[in-house]
Amino acid sequence: MEDKIILYPSNWLYNAGVVGFLKVLQYNGINFEIDGKLIIDRFAIKESYKGIFRYHEDVLNERFSIWGKNKRYPNYIQSSQKEFFENYYVKALQRIERNKHKTCSWCEGYFIPQILIDDIKSKFKRNFSSFLEQREKFQGIHFAGLGAAITEVPNSFWNLNFSTPICHLCSYLIIFHHLAFIKTPEGEIFINAPDFYLIWDLNNFAEKILAKSKEYEVRKILGSSLLQWAIKRRTLLGAWTMMNIEVIVKKGSIIDYFDLPPNITKILLDYDIANLIEEINEEKIFDLILAGKFSELEKANYFVLKTILKLKKNDEISKNDPITKYFTKYNDLQYLRRVSQILPKLYGKILEKIGR
Ligand SMILES: [Zn+2]
Repeated sequence: MEDKIILYPSNWLYNAGVVGFLKVLQYNGINFEIDGKLIIDRFAIKESYKGIFRYHEDVLNERFSIWGKNKRYPNYIQSSQKEFFENYYVKALQRIERNKHKTCSWCEGYFIPQILIDDIKSKFKRNFSSFLEQREKFQGIHFAGLGAAITEVPNSFWNLNFSTPICHLCSYLIIFHHLAFIKTPEGEIFINAPDFYLIWDLNNFAEKILAKSKEYEVRKILGSSLLQWAIKRRTLLGAWTMMNIEVIVKKGSIIDYFDLPPNITKILLDYDIANLIEEINEEKIFDLILAGKFSELEKANYFVLKTILKLKKNDEISKNDPITKYFTKYNDLQYLRRVSQILPKLYGKILEKIGR
């Protein structure tokens, strides 16, 4: 048995579970290695169970529960199974391994070895096989709200037969998924991608951005997160990875998906372009780019130059001046001079990037 467990990105629900799990590990000071994939120590599983309660109490000020009637995962286990779950099942989970006879629709398939199952069975009070069956199937009823939502949305991982086979690890990770979602005015969001490091980063950036600008819409949160990523990580992403960045928006029991057009994603993830946008530091310009109105940048620059002339002559800039459509700091000559250098460069680089 290897010490470490390696996880690869899969569908968004699984990925959100993993991110929630990582948040709990991070909060409790448990290390993990993350790049495209994720490497965790086995003991992290048991620690995460204690950790998830602590996290809810300390960070969310919430009493977390997974047994019986509860807010997030009603009847995930029964109240009478709580002791068994904590003292035997979660412990056994640390020894998960691949199983030739069982498959998981979401991951490589990590199951508690049969010997261990036979061992802990005697500690279980009632119908053990039905308890175990519930750990091996993804059933809407276990995942409050979300279950209902998923059955209504045909999805790559949900094949509508209402009981997708999953493994013991996946059915455990799912109770962390709500922690990955970030509150926004449009609903709770999770940024998904086919790379764990990218997912982890983008969601962390999004959280920080939202802490500053609470009223940002989803489009802007995603756009700004991509921009931050390009500036801070300076790494080239493959086309396939770029095309598969999406936001999951959860509003009550409705699940929505949002993504940016491929061209916009490509532009925002370009290191040079991202830096120029950051240097301009003007939301109105950022909005134009997010909306794909690139040629407006040329127009904007025309008005910048005009405004510079006016300011030099000490003319007053009226509130209806076209420049106000593009810039907030339209009275700042130094700033406009700087911007007049950046805008043409930015426009050129964008055209180059999208091949026009
Ligand atoms: Zn699995």
